[in-house]
Amino acid sequence: STFKDLGLNDDLLQAITDLGFEKPSEVQAKAIPILLESETDLVALAQTGTGKTAAFGFPMLEKIDVSSRTTQGLILSPTRELCLQITNEMKLYGKYCKGLNVVAVYGGSSITDQARDIKRGAQIIVATPGRMKDMINRRLVDISKIQYSVLDEADEMLNMGFKEDITDILSHTPEDKNTWLFSATMPREVATIAKKFMNNPQEITV
Ligand code: AMP
Repeated sequence: STFKDLGLNDDLLQAITDLGFEKPSEVQAKAIPILLESETDLVALAQTGTGKTAAFGFPMLEKIDVSSRTTQGLILSPTRELCLQITNEMKLYGKYCKGLNVVAVYGGSSITDQARDIKRGAQIIVATPGRMKDMINRRLVDISKIQYSVLDEADEMLNMGFKEDITDILSHTPEDKNTWLFSATMPREVATIAKKFMNNPQEITV
């Protein structure tokens, strides 16, 4: 299949052409049609390097309203490096989505600067759980209008002890949002969290 077959819009197709992506990877071919065509929760078993950032990133970019400054998408990832990498990729993928603001939120860097960037109107926040929780507690961010949340490398986040932070963060988001969980492995802890936060998720494995 081609990216066009998957139903992506022209802004995204142009960015994909610029990046030189020739065809969708397996996880992209499986996840993108599901996420574009339905408002559903998703559990995806996929390793890093499989193109999973675009598998959740393209649908999120397609679905959010860039004419609004409200934060609509939240991507949680385990480490600062991954957080920055995802932010960078989302900016590349969304380079023709006019008005798009993607902000990275992670520890070890100025919280005031991050809060200021969010205040300017970030439709998408990519965050590590610890700093995100800190920002919520300090009322520096409003995630009450989130429509799409991604738990990336869920197994790693749980391994690193972020279960309580994730639970706390998600409790500040709407019940009716969609949650897309990506994990390389499916230990019991991940299955438990999937059960707790998701409604009847579709499942894919690559
Ligand atoms: P990820 O698994 O999301 O970290 O992606 C791994 C790398 O593959 C990143 O550098 C992406 O830019 C790249 N990539 C993602 N999707 C594709 C694709 N369909 N074709 C070629 N490269 C891709």
